Amino acid sequence: QKPLYRTFHGHSKLLASDVYSEYQAVRRGEQEIPKYFNFASDVLDKWTKIEKAGKRPSNSAFWWISGKGEEVKWSFEELGFLSRKVANVLTKVCGLQKGDRIIVVLPRIPEWWLVNVACMRAGIVLIPGTTQLSAKDILYRLQASKAKCIITDDTVAPAVDSVASESQFLKTKLIVSKGSREGWLNFSELYKNQSADHSCAKTRIEDSVNIFFTSGTTGSPKMTEHSQGSLGFRPLLSERYWLDLTPSDVIWNTADTGWILTSLSSVFDAWVFGSCIFVHQLPQIESATILNTLCRFPIDTLVGVPTLYRMLVQNDLSSYKFMNLKHCMSGGEPLNPEVMEKWKSQTGLDIHEVYGQTETGIICSVFKGMKIKPGSMGKAAPLFDVQDNPKKTAESERGDFYVTGDRGTMDKDGYFWFIGRDDDIIISSGYRIGPFEVESALMEHPAVAEAAVVSSPDPLRGEVVKAFVVLSATFSSSNREHLACELQEHVKKTTAPYKYPRKVEFVQQMPKTITGKIKRHELRNKEWGRIEQTSVI
Ligand code: ATP
Ligand code: MG
Repeated sequence: QKPLYRTFHGHSKLLASDVYSEYQAVRRGEQEIPKYFNFASDVLDKWTKIEKAGKRPSNSAFWWISGKGEEVKWSFEELGFLSRKVANVLTKVCGLQKGDRIIVVLPRIPEWWLVNVACMRAGIVLIPGTTQLSAKDILYRLQASKAKCIITDDTVAPAVDSVASESQFLKTKLIVSKGSREGWLNFSELYKNQSADHSCAKTRIEDSVNIFFTSGTTGSPKMTEHSQGSLGFRPLLSERYWLDLTPSDVIWNTADTGWILTSLSSVFDAWVFGSCIFVHQLPQIESATILNTLCRFPIDTLVGVPTLYRMLVQNDLSSYKFMNLKHCMSGGEPLNPEVMEKWKSQTGLDIHEVYGQTETGIICSVFKGMKIKPGSMGKAAPLFDVQDNPKKTAESERGDFYVTGDRGTMDKDGYFWFIGRDDDIIISSGYRIGPFEVESALMEHPAVAEAAVVSSPDPLRGEVVKAFVVLSATFSSSNREHLACELQEHVKKTTAPYKYPRKVEFVQQMPKTITGKIKRHELRNKEWGRIEQTSVI
């Protein structure tokens, strides 16, 4: 019923991609959405043709560096050639078939991208996982997904071996390693000797392509399935997308391979536009490495989680001259306006926020060229009709709406403002207080490096606002009592006085998920004397 595309205010540039222009009639609603779609044959292989015809800038499709001097660069043609070999390993050697599931737990190494494309070619469903998973986490994923195969490296293989016998579904283990390991097939050796002849599986647009496990911020991670359509076709349907890229752009996303953010910004959404995906192996996320990489490589677009930017603005950025950086994006958690301002004043660059969930992909976004309202997550992303409907969300029946479990408001311009996760809202003396606003107020104070705000029991008010604060280095030896009062006064002045934290506790670090999200529920449970359920990530 709704048009498949919208025109946005400030829309300046149409995406100059041949692959993209092919679907114009579908975007206009003049043609049906195709029944069959495969990202490898319908997008990547088309880019190969365009590249071969000399109609694409001489920009790699994939550019990887180890940080220790090794480098890999692939054109779309090379990516196609190598991934066909890998597809043959999966189907011929491992005997996997269309619809089978495979768990891939690898660091940011080129093989991860080859396996992604190979799975698309063979119609195999790829389930990414972070290398920080424990044996218990891996077993949880193997059982929940019924995966028949796992691919990992030397670091994680022992954990897999310790639980493999408990999984009746797991048939094949592939290791990416220079050496050999008993009971494992060697990925690298096998794929080099395979033929590069492989015909791409004919997949329906609703066929599953990836399964992701959510971050596990509020409990055990949930399994969410995405299709060729929801991941691969969706960017082709949008007149304007959160990643407004061109074939000459180079995009770098620093997130872990285990999360949807990487599949979006470092696989599907970047390659739809024929851009170059830049990857740094990043064994450790360190400010100096990230800043130096931005200075040494022609990266236009940076995608990261808020923790990344919070970490970077702790440095003196004036000594770094970024080579090509023009566009910065942050998502996964709310980004404090203070961090945006610090980044802007030191680099001249804005941070564009995106909001989404593993279940949905990007829901809201601050698009390129759009006026930025610091603290807002931007407007509804194309194809989403996002509304703030307190009455509807209170009811159990939500009609056509998917309820995210997050609270936010929409202003008159259609910008969304994040208040907090449902569970994180604090109700004190009848007032509803969103933690993010109080945290952002605290972050404005120079003493505060990080802040987390949760509810704490109070005999009179039911619950009160409590702030956990990590001090910035220069304030680490300040008088804590004074500082606590100063922070309380500061919040009273910056937001409505009733929101100020009646309790303040200084901590060395925050409990976080692997993605770097603050686990407020863990802090809250401690306050309320609840026993924390040990959840698998
Ligand atoms: P779990 O569902 O397992 O508890 P999770 O919700 O953190 O974990 P994800 O799907 O990775 O798992 O994260 C989605 C959530 O992250 C959103 O529901 C929202 O709470 C938060 N989020 C994402 N982007 C933003 C943003 N820009 N601003 C505020 N919150 C955000
Ligand atoms: Mg969630």
